[in-house]
Parts: sequence; structure tokens; C-alpha cells
Amino acid sequence: MTLPIVSAGEIELNGVHKWFGTFHALDDINLVIAPQEKVVICGPSGSGKSTLIRCINRLESHEQGKIVVGGIELTEDEDQIDEVRREVGMVFQHFNLFPHLTILQNCILAPMWVRKIPKKQAIETAMHFLDRVRIPEQAGKFPAQLSGGQQQRVAIARALCMTPKVMLFDEPTSALDPEMVKEVLDTMVSLAKEGMTMVCVTHEMGFAKQVADRVIFMDRGRIVEEGKPLEFFDNPQNERSKLFLSQIL
Ligand code: ADP
Ligand code: MG
Repeated sequence: MTLPIVSAGEIELNGVHKWFGTFHALDDINLVIAPQEKVVICGPSGSGKSTLIRCINRLESHEQGKIVVGGIELTEDEDQIDEVRREVGMVFQHFNLFPHLTILQNCILAPMWVRKIPKKQAIETAMHFLDRVRIPEQAGKFPAQLSGGQQQRVAIARALCMTPKVMLFDEPTSALDPEMVKEVLDTMVSLAKEGMTMVCVTHEMGFAKQVADRVIFMDRGRIVEEGKPLEFFDNPQNERSKLFLSQIL
């Protein structure tokens, strides 16, 4: 069985602001991400990277400006939020698998309950994607029985089971032991090559150079620089980007 990964996703943020109480977490974000584009977001801790990508599937709400995903504007309308979430997969730093469910059950839950896919078909799809991330043999185990790298690959497979148009990654490798980073990045590189639209918060420069069309640097809730990965990493223009890169290199 081959399941094509469809990519028609497009994301548009226009003058977006977000406050946590009086704290200005996103300050006038303007960003258009084309279908199939790969964007890497980096920047210091607390600069708003997670908040930004969480706004794209409305895990956080914005107070001002406009966010449109795949032609659907994110407002308080629950139906529209559900519609966007069906097309947008997310992978978190800490995997967020359901600990009391097996790997297979983790993968079929949302397709069955949200997409109303029959169980047999959901299992077929789940096994297809577990195979893609090279751990079909782990399907019957529980998350705690897997290594961190394997759990993160399950999280990616689980997101893919919803056949999203867009994948959001929030520091997917930063909680992993160093020897497991590569297996997760390899999975992400192969997804990128298939034309998935990807927005990825990461400081993995090798990954960014290999797959990103664009790198965005955030500081204090603002996008302060963006450019092609080679230009950005080798010749950053902004003083804050230079300082940040000098600290992570
Ligand atoms: P990053 O991902 O770049 O490290 P975040 O987007 O997580 O940054 O956070 C940006 C800022 O917003 C931080 O100062 C953080 O403390 C604050 N923040 C994030 N989430 C919340 C929240 N739910 N309530 C209050 N403040 C928050
Ligand atoms: Mg974060």
C-alpha cells in the first residue's frame, strides 16, 4: 500500500499579536508559508517560537491579527478550528504519547474518533506509517518500553496517520539523548523530501541546511531576521542573531 502525502497547505500570519497577561509573547508576526515549503524557526529560549507554532493549530489563541491555514481563518469558531487541526499534525519535544495505550492504539485513536475511519483501515494506515519510521515491530508495546528516539518516531507516525497537509515540530530532538537525534532527523528529512509542508522549531543546523527553504530567527516575540539557511547560519545580519549563533555553535 502506498499512501501519498498530500501537500496543499499554506499558512499565513498577518499582524499577529499574542499576550500572556501583560507579557507580549508575539509582537506583530507576519509570515507566509507556501505549500510544501520547509521553514525552520530558531531563537533564544522564551522568544515565542513555541507560542508561534502553537497558534498555527490554535493550541494557543491570538488576540490580534489574522491566521489563515489552508484557506481557513482561525477564529473562535470551533468547527473551523477542528477543520484546521485535521490538516495540521504536531510533534512535541516530549513526544506526548498516551502512556496507557500501545503504540498501535496511539496511532489509530485520532483517525478512528476524529476522522471516523474504520478500525481495520486505521490499523493498516498505522502499520504503513510505523513501517515508514522503521519501527513496525514495536506496534504492540507501550511507550515506556521504547527508547526516546523510538517514541519520537512513533509520535511522527501518529501525526502522519491523520494524513496532514502541514507538520509542525516543536524542538523534536531536544529531549533526546545525542545518539538518538539522528534517527529522528533522518525521518524528518525523508518527510521533507516527499513534499510535506513543514514548520520546525529546531536548532539542528545540519537539518536546517539540508532541508529548510528558509530560516526564521525570533527574539522577544518578533521575527528579527529571515533568510536562506546557508546565508543565515554563515552570515547572520542581525546583532541578536549573531550573538545567538555564537552561543550555539
Ligand atoms: P520559546 O518556545 O521560544 O522558548 P515560548 O513561546 O514557549 O518560547 O514562550 C514565550 C514566552 O511566553 C516565555 O517568556 C514564556 O514564559 C511565556 N509563556 C509561554 N506560555 C505561557 C503561558 N501559558 N502563560 C504565561 N506565559 C507563557
Ligand atoms: Mg519552545
